[in-house]
Amino acid sequence: MAEIRDDAAQMSGDLAGLRRAIHAEPEIGRDLPRTQEKVLAALDGLPLEITRGRSLSSVTAVLRGGRPGGTVLLRGDMDALPVAERTGLPYASGVDGVMHACGHDLHTAMLAGAARLLSARRAELAGNVIFMFQPAEETAGGAELMISEGVLDAAGDRPVAAFGLHVTSALLPLGVFASRDGTLMAAADTLEVTVRGRGGHGSQPHLGADPVPVACEIVTALHALVTRQFDVFDPVVITVGSFHAGTASNVIPDEARLSASVRSFSPAARARMLDAVPRLVRDVASAHGLSATAEFVDGYPMTVNNAAEVSFAERAIADVLGGGRFVRMPDPVTGSEDFSFVLDQVPGAFLMLGACPPGVDPATAPFNHSSEAVFDDAVLADGTALLAELALRRLG
Ligand SMILES: [Zn+2]
Ligand SMILES: [Zn+2]
Repeated sequence: MAEIRDDAAQMSGDLAGLRRAIHAEPEIGRDLPRTQEKVLAALDGLPLEITRGRSLSSVTAVLRGGRPGGTVLLRGDMDALPVAERTGLPYASGVDGVMHACGHDLHTAMLAGAARLLSARRAELAGNVIFMFQPAEETAGGAELMISEGVLDAAGDRPVAAFGLHVTSALLPLGVFASRDGTLMAAADTLEVTVRGRGGHGSQPHLGADPVPVACEIVTALHALVTRQFDVFDPVVITVGSFHAGTASNVIPDEARLSASVRSFSPAARARMLDAVPRLVRDVASAHGLSATAEFVDGYPMTVNNAAEVSFAERAIADVLGGGRFVRMPDPVTGSEDFSFVLDQVPGAFLMLGACPPGVDPATAPFNHSSEAVFDDAVLADGTALLAELALRRLG
């Protein structure tokens, strides 16, 4: 067991080199040609079946073990964010306004490292491993696109388990993994509301049908809905982040628009929200003699861990990396993640990994997506070893 960790530690320099090269040349969205090139170069010479994506620059690599068995999927996302980096690091982004501020550069390097470790252990591997290098986590649901292009069937049979890691630049101490049974991350949908009235002169509101106060009432009613109709122990979050109407102080506009981020942590709460919100919006508008529409745009579903796979990962962490390296999270996080599409179809576990630099307080360090977020290379070897161990042991 210690051996896989030692082998990963010996690769530390290469892992950091790859991570920093990706960090210095970040790319956004589905089309990541330079990142894809670096991944392919890192996998070069390994006994892998490699497929590139059609609608996105993904890389799917399949390793077939020397012994028969099932399939395990390991995933790393590869895309950066539209953030102007202000870390001052020597390997900081060389691309204006683009930064690996969510640590996906580390995920990519660790997954490539795991492919190397497992390739060296091919003879003892009882089954297949799918390495899923995924673009567009932050934008367009790259995981869903890769699933539609067949990543789950890349080895021939459906994976028995799927695992992914996510580094954090704050909250967790360096090198500590964290996860929980069941819902780990929220579902995030977008609500679009349009209130339709009848415009007119601001001096004669009784001759028009003003959508502004009605839209304001809808915002207030949405907040009341959250506190009065949802269980506090199965919470939902609604934030109206955009509200637009009108052009001048003395003109009543024809319509008002607002959009909201809607987060939920259980299928029941999500379904209830989809049912209750449009009714509330329509009825508030109609109470004032106006009409309104409410449309939900589906975002990422809940990221739901399989309890047995979380326990399995917890044991693997203790055996390979030692005690005190895993904590169970009391609550889910309100962020969302498109590995959820994989976990919808394959039981598995998604694990957080603290990458806050030594000497920095995780409680106050800049968090993921900040222009000052720093992720420490020190986690690369252990993250790589764990990914490899999860596959090896799960198939064993
Ligand atoms: Zn992110
Ligand atoms: Zn991320």
